[in-house]
Amino acid sequence: MKQIVDLTSRRNFKKTTLPLTEIEHVAFCKTEDELPAQPLIDELKVNIKWQEIPVEYLRLTVKELDSRIDRARLSLGDRLMILGHHYQRDEVIKHADVRGDSYLLSKTAANSKADYIVFCGVHFMAETARVLGSENQTIILPNITAGCSMADMAPIDDVLDAWDDLTKILKDQSIIPVTYMNSAAEIKALCGRNGGIVCTSSNAQNVFKWAFTKSKRILFLPDQHLGRNTGLKMGIPEENMVLWNPFKRMGGNSVEEYNKAKVILWRGHCSVHTRFTVGHIEMARHRFPDVKVIVHPECTKEVVAASDINGSTEVIRKKIEQAPSGTSWAIGTEISFVNRLAKENPSKNVFCLDPVVCPCSTMYRIHPAYLAWVLDALIAGVVVNEIKVEPEIAEYSRIALEAMLTV
Ligand code: SF4
Repeated sequence: MKQIVDLTSRRNFKKTTLPLTEIEHVAFCKTEDELPAQPLIDELKVNIKWQEIPVEYLRLTVKELDSRIDRARLSLGDRLMILGHHYQRDEVIKHADVRGDSYLLSKTAANSKADYIVFCGVHFMAETARVLGSENQTIILPNITAGCSMADMAPIDDVLDAWDDLTKILKDQSIIPVTYMNSAAEIKALCGRNGGIVCTSSNAQNVFKWAFTKSKRILFLPDQHLGRNTGLKMGIPEENMVLWNPFKRMGGNSVEEYNKAKVILWRGHCSVHTRFTVGHIEMARHRFPDVKVIVHPECTKEVVAASDINGSTEVIRKKIEQAPSGTSWAIGTEISFVNRLAKENPSKNVFCLDPVVCPCSTMYRIHPAYLAWVLDALIAGVVVNEIKVEPEIAEYSRIALEAMLTV
C-alpha cells in the first residue's frame, strides 16, 4: 500500500519557473569567426539581460579597452588581483593574474593580500571568494548578470521546501545535503547548517564517501549529472538514485522510492555540458579513429560512458598538456577553454566535440568593457558590483566549504 505524507510546504501553492539564464543559454551560439570580442555595442544586439554600463564603454574596441585595463592595473598595482576562470574568453583571460577552475580561484582569492579581487567568472564563484576571503578584501564581479544557469536551477525557496518535505517523508530522517561548488551561497549554507558539505567535480567521489559515513542517503544539489555520474562510479545502481523534480509535488516520486534511494538528485543541469551527445562522440571517432574523448562529468551519463576519460576542467587541462605530440583529443567542455587548449598545444589535434560554437552564455557576459569599467571606477575610488554575502549565510557556507577541505 502506498504511504501518504502530509506535505504543507509552500511549493504546493507557488509556481516554480525556469531561470532566465537557462532560457538565454544559446544566445551566444555562433561561428568560430564570430567568436572574437566585438565592441560591446555590437554584442548587446544579442537579446539577453545585460547590466547597464556607462555609454563611453559601448563603442571602445578591444585594443582601446586593453589600454584602459593595463593603465588601471599599473595604477592599482598589488592592491588588485584579477582572477580568470578557464571558460572566460581570450580577451578577458589575458588580463588575469591567475587562471583556474572555480575552487582554485576561490582559494587563490582567500590567500591573496590584494585589497580588490576582480573575479572574471560567474556569481557563485565570486560569492565563494567572498565567503573564504578576508573581511578587508573587496570582491568584484565585472558584470552582475553573469550568473550560472545550473546554480539558478536551485533557488533557495525551492530547496528549503524540498528539504522540509524530505525530512518529513523519510521516517528515519537519514539524509545529508551535499552541494556542488556551482551553487548559491544560501545552498552551501543549508548544507553547513545540516551537517552537509560542498564538493567540486574533482573531489565528488571522496565527498560522497565522507557523506555516507555520516548518513544513509545524500541529497545532491544542483547538478543531477555530476551526482549520477559520481554515484555510478561508486557502484550505486541507478534504481537507488532518484530525481527530485521541483516542478512536481513531492519531487515526483513515491515515499517508497525515497526510502529506497541512496542518492536523491536535484533536477538541475549545465546548459553547456548537456549539449554534448553520443552522436558527437561517434562523429569524432569516425573522423579520427585514434582520437581520445575526454568529457566533463557534468555531461550526461550516456556521454560519460561513451568517452575514454571524464574529469574536471583541471583534469582536462593536465591531460592535454601531458599528452604526446601527434595525438588527437575531442573534448566535451566549454568552447573558449577548448579553443585555448588547442592554441596552447599546437602539436596535438585538439577540438571540441560539438561543432556548433556555444560559449557559456553567463561567463561570456564578462566582456572586456565591463572589466575596464569596474577597474576605472576603482581608480576613481568607486566600487562597482561588490559581491556581499549576509554574515549568517557566509558563516554556514564556510562550515560546508571547510568540511570539504578535511576530506
Ligand atoms: S559552464 Fe555550466 S556550470 Fe559552468 S558557469 Fe556555465 S552554465 Fe554554469
